[in-house]
Amino acid sequence: MKVKQCLVIGLGRFGTAVATTLYELGHEVVAVDIEEEHVQAVTNLVTHAAILDATDERALRSIGAGDFDEVVIAIGTDIRANILATMGAKGLGATHVVCKATDEISARVLEKIGADEVIRPEHDMGVRVAQRLAGVKRKDA
Ligand code: ATP
Repeated sequence: MKVKQCLVIGLGRFGTAVATTLYELGHEVVAVDIEEEHVQAVTNLVTHAAILDATDERALRSIGAGDFDEVVIAIGTDIRANILATMGAKGLGATHVVCKATDEISARVLEKIGADEVIRPEHDMGVRVAQRLAGVKRKDA
């Protein structure tokens, strides 16, 4: 297995699950959040955790956001912060940026500005549950 260098921005429930699971699976994970207590909660569960405002391009540059194999932007509510973080990471050269969105319009905006993948956790999980209950076979299952 190739050990991937991963950056997870935003440590709510979704970002924390992504960061700690990638780490448990053997990957290198840098996890950042603007809130100190969210950072402290994952300190021992990832490779490196730090307080960082992802809307600040200089801060993204200082952690080498363009050099990670995977960048996950797990900021849902503050779409402005999500957009700036996505533009910042892509502008610094990140090759695969996965963004969390809370609604369809935000998802479309994030795709337009260069997100490589956009996830809507509640929506996507709702679709999956419905497909499973209806017995629909998924192509990627
Ligand atoms: P979840 O559903 O994953 O628990 P949430 O909807 O409660 O998330 P979000 O608004 O999606 O909360 O924010 C997720 C995380 O992103 C929070 O921990 C928040 O502190 C962090 N965050 C918000 N803005 C920034 C920013 N500018 N830079 C870094 N982290 C940020």
